[in-house]
Amino acid sequence: METVFRPYIFGKGPDESMSQQVVQPLPRSHVVVDAERCKGCELCVVTCPHKNLALSAGLNRNGYHPVVFTYHGEKGDCTACGICYYVCPDFAIAEVRSLRKG
Ligand code: SF4
Ligand code: SF4
Repeated sequence: METVFRPYIFGKGPDESMSQQVVQPLPRSHVVVDAERCKGCELCVVTCPHKNLALSAGLNRNGYHPVVFTYHGEKGDCTACGICYYVCPDFAIAEVRSLRKG
């Protein structure tokens, strides 16, 4: 069964061009970060069990380094556990989706 965490309160959609880094092979999961909402506090970075999130080198419009989703962390692939989604105080994790079937 597909797992999706997605809030419904956003006025605008996430800027995927700033937050996504596509790698091969096809990842197990997909996390969308709204880079313009992120304040770079790193709560999601330190709580992700697989280290799939990191601060980007670039800046958003508020002058913060927004988090990027890397798919393959130091401790394995994203499992779509949703911890980053629930821990973010600014609702900057726009969506967590498991790409696996079954
Ligand atoms: S869903 Fe879980 S494993 Fe994936 S990036 Fe978020 S905290 Fe890490
Ligand atoms: S917890 Fe939210 S605001 Fe903080 S770095 Fe992660 S995505 Fe950005």
